Amino acid sequence: MTRYIYEFGPRSTDGDASMKNLLGGKGANLAEMARLGLPVPPGFTISTECCNDYFERGGCFPDPLESEVMTALARIEAQMGMRFGDPEAPLLVSCRSGARSSMPGMMETILNVGLCSKTIPGLAARTGNEWFVYDAYRRLIMMYSDVVMEKAEQVVPEDGMGIRLNLEMMMNNLKNDKGYEHDTDISVQDMRALCDRFKKKISEYLNKEFPDDPREQLMGAIGAVFKSWNGKRAVSYRRIEHIPDAWGTAVNVQAMVFGNMGNTSATGVAFTRDPATGKNHFFGEWLVNAQGEDVVAGIRTPNPLNKETKNMQNRHLPSLEEAMPELYAQLYDIRNKLESHYRDMQDIEFTIQEGTLYMLQCRVGKRTATAALNMAMDMFEEGLIDETTMICRLNPKSLDEMLHPIVDPVEEKIAVQVAEGLPAGPGGAWGKIVFTAEDAVQMAKTGENVILVREETNPEDIEGMRAAAAILTARGGMTSHAALVARGWGKCCIVGAGAMKIHARNRQLQVGTRTFKQGDILTLNGTRGIVYEGRLKMKDALENPKFQKFMEIADRHRTMGVRTNADTPEDAATALKFGAQGIGLFRTEHMFYGADSDRPLFLLRKMILSKSTEERQTALDELFPFVKQEIKNTLAVMDNLPVTLRLLDPPLHEFVPQTEATQGEIAKALGIDLEEVIKRSQMLKESNPMIGHRGVRLGITFPEVTRMQVMAIFSAAAELIGDGKHPRPEIMVPVTCNEKELSFTKKIVDVCYRDVLETHNLERIPYLFGTMIEIPRAALIADKMAEDAQFFSFGTNDLTQMTFGFSRDDIGSFMNDYIDHAILDSDPFETLDQEAVGSLIEIAVERGRQTRPDIKLGICGEHGGDPDSVAFCHRAGLTYVSCSPYRVPIARLAAAQAAIQENG
Ligand code: PEP
Ligand code: MG
Repeated sequence: MTRYIYEFGPRSTDGDASMKNLLGGKGANLAEMARLGLPVPPGFTISTECCNDYFERGGCFPDPLESEVMTALARIEAQMGMRFGDPEAPLLVSCRSGARSSMPGMMETILNVGLCSKTIPGLAARTGNEWFVYDAYRRLIMMYSDVVMEKAEQVVPEDGMGIRLNLEMMMNNLKNDKGYEHDTDISVQDMRALCDRFKKKISEYLNKEFPDDPREQLMGAIGAVFKSWNGKRAVSYRRIEHIPDAWGTAVNVQAMVFGNMGNTSATGVAFTRDPATGKNHFFGEWLVNAQGEDVVAGIRTPNPLNKETKNMQNRHLPSLEEAMPELYAQLYDIRNKLESHYRDMQDIEFTIQEGTLYMLQCRVGKRTATAALNMAMDMFEEGLIDETTMICRLNPKSLDEMLHPIVDPVEEKIAVQVAEGLPAGPGGAWGKIVFTAEDAVQMAKTGENVILVREETNPEDIEGMRAAAAILTARGGMTSHAALVARGWGKCCIVGAGAMKIHARNRQLQVGTRTFKQGDILTLNGTRGIVYEGRLKMKDALENPKFQKFMEIADRHRTMGVRTNADTPEDAATALKFGAQGIGLFRTEHMFYGADSDRPLFLLRKMILSKSTEERQTALDELFPFVKQEIKNTLAVMDNLPVTLRLLDPPLHEFVPQTEATQGEIAKALGIDLEEVIKRSQMLKESNPMIGHRGVRLGITFPEVTRMQVMAIFSAAAELIGDGKHPRPEIMVPVTCNEKELSFTKKIVDVCYRDVLETHNLERIPYLFGTMIEIPRAALIADKMAEDAQFFSFGTNDLTQMTFGFSRDDIGSFMNDYIDHAILDSDPFETLDQEAVGSLIEIAVERGRQTRPDIKLGICGEHGGDPDSVAFCHRAGLTYVSCSPYRVPIARLAAAQAAIQENG
C-alpha cells in the first residue's frame, strides 16, 4: 500500500532533507530541522504522491487517507497534551503547501484549523486570552472562506472582489468606525461580533455555512491546498519557472504555535545572510503579537531583526535583538547551526509563543545574482564550501541580471527624486508606469518598457510582474511577496515606498503635491531603493572585480570554448570584454541592414536585380570593397582568434526594394525602367522562402556571388597579415544538405585562395572551410559532409525548425498552447530539444568524426547561450558554443558547471 503520511517533530521523524520530491521542500526541511534537534512543533507531511493520486481520482482523497490523517493527528495530540476538537484542551493545526521547489506565495496556507463553537471557550479558558482566540478565529474564517470555500470550489465572485476582500473591508470599516489604528486595538467584543458577521456574510455570499466541525475543516483544508497546485497563479509561476505539472504539492499539517498571544509572542521571517547584497549578516523582519501572514503580506511595517540591519523604513522600531535579547541569541545560534549544516544561505520562518521559540520553516533562500556571487565567494573563503560548489552556486541565467544595466551614477546625482522605498530587487530600470498587472502585460506586448506600480503586489499579479521591467509598491517589507518574487527573478524592484498614494482606479500615483498618470516615465534604482522622475541613462555593471575573479576560477574548470555571434566590430569588442574566444557566427548579410549600410545595400540590390552575369559582375565588383572592409574590421578586432564568416544566407527577395523611390534609383543604375524592376522583383518572390533559394543554393546558381565573398575574406586577411596581424578566418557555407554542394563551393574557394596568395605574395593564409549543419539531411550524412568540411557549426535555429516542421517566425501563434497543454516543456527554439534535435547533433558528431577525427564542432543557433543547451553541447563533445555577446558569460559558466557535473 502506498504510504502517504510522514511524521516529524521532537519525538519521531520519518523524513529528511533528501526527500524533497516526496515531501516537498517545506516538509523535507521540517523533518531535517527536527532531526537536528531544533524546536519544530510536531506535525506530518502528506506526500506529493498523494496529491497526484488525488487529482487522478478527480479531486477525491485516496481511501485510507482520512483515517491515516486521524492516526497521525493522534500522535501530535499525544505530544502536545491537547486534542483536536476537544472542548477543554483543543489542539489547532496549520495546513501548508510545499512543492519540490519553492514557489513563494503561489499556493495556499490555512492557519488555526480546529477552531469552532465547541473549542473556542476551552481555548479561551486555557489561555486566559479571549482576544487572541477570536483574532485566531477571524483569521481562520478569512483564510478558509477564501481558499477552501471560494478558490478551491472555483467560485468566481460576481463583484470581482472575492470573499476575502469583502471580509477585509468589513474589518477596515470596523476599525475606521471605532477609531482603531491597529488590528490589536480591536476590543474582544468587537472581534467576537466581527467573527459572527463574517460567518453571516459567507453564508449570504457563498451560499454555504462556514464549517463548525474541526474534522471537516481539516479535510477541506487539505483538499484545498492540493487544489491550489492547479490555481491560476501557481500554474503561471510553473510555466515561467519551467516546473513540471506532475510534481504536485505536499501538505504539511502541524500543531499551531501562536505569535499572536500577546506581547511576549511574535513571528518573523529571516535570512541567514542578506539576500539582496549577500553580506554576511543575519537579516530579517518580525512583528510582535502577530501571525506569520502579517509579515509577508506587508500589512504592518515589520520590525528589523537586529540593530545592524535597520533601514530607513524601520529604524524607529525596536529590533528583536533589543526587544527579546535571549530569544534573539537562541535564534542566532540556530542561524549558525543551519548555515553550517546546509552550507548555504537559508530563509527561515519562526514564531515565538509566550517566550518560547519555534522554527516553522527553512529553505535555501532566494537571492539576487550579486548576492549569490558574493555569498558563494565568501562561503568558499570561509571554508564552508569547496571551489566546485562555489562555481555551481550561481545560476548561469542569473548572470544576465548582473550584466545588465544600473542607473548611471552621474545622471542620478542631478535627477529629481520622487520617492524612497526598500531596495528589494537590484539594478536600474526605467519605464512607463502602469497600475494593473493586465495593463503591464498588454503594454509590454507592444514593446513598451513598463513599471508596474501597486499598493502592494499579490501573487495574482504574477504575469504583470513578469512582463514589467521593474516593480514599485507603496507597501510591504523586504520579505513581502513582491520582494521575494522580484529577487528570485533578478528584477529591479522597490517596495514600501510609503510616501506614494496609489489610486489604481484612476490610474494615478500621487506623491505629496505631485501626480503621475499612467504612461508617465519613472526610473528606479532598485539597488538603493530610490524612484526618480523621467528616464535616466543606464550603465554597464560589468566592472565588478569579484565577478571577474569568479569567472576566471570558473574558466579553469571549463573544457568547451565559448565564442560569440557578432556581425560588427562593436559587438565583437563587447563580446571580447565578456570573455569570448572568437566569433562563431558572423552573419554577412547584417552589413546590409545596420548603420552606414545605404550604399552597400544599394549595390546589393543592384546585384540581385541584375539579369545577366555581366550586370551582376559589375555590381559585385562595386560591392566587393565594402564587404572586404567590413570583414577586415571585425577580423582586426578579433586578432589571433577564429572568426567564422558565413556566406550570404537569406533569400534574396528580403533585400528587394519596396518603395517606388528606391526602385527608381535601381532602375536608373541598371539602365532599365521601373516596370522592369518591379517585374524582376516579383520573379524573386517565393512561396516558402525559408526553404527556398537561399544559402549555398544562391552560390550554386550564381557562383560569382560566392566568389566575391570569398575573395573579400581572403583579401581582408591578406591585408591584415601585411599589417602584421594574425587573422584566422573560417569560411562557413550555410543551409547545406548534400556533400556535393560543399565540393562545388570548395572549388571556388581554392581558386580564390591561390589568386589572393599570388596577388599579395603570401605563402599561406591560415583558414578553415566548413559548413553549418542545420538541415536534418546534412546531420544524417555528416560523414560525407566532413570530406570537405573541416568544421561543422550546428545552426540549431533552422535545425529545430526543420526537425519539428515549426516555422521559427510563426511559433508565436501556437507555442503557448503547446506549453499550456504540457505537450512541450519549453519552447524548443529557446532550449534545445535533446530528444530529437539533440539526437541529430549526436549522430552528426559521431559520423563527422568517423571521416575527420579532428573536426571542429560548434553551435551557433540561439541555444548556444541557454544553460541547459550548453550543458548538452558539453556532453555531446562539441568544441565550442557561440552566442550573443551578453550571453557569453552565461555560456562560460554553464560550460564550467557542465564540466564539473561530468566529473561528479
Ligand atoms: C541557425 O539556423 O541556427 C543559424 C544560426 O542561422 P540563422 O539564425 O541565421 O538562420
Ligand atoms: Mg540558419
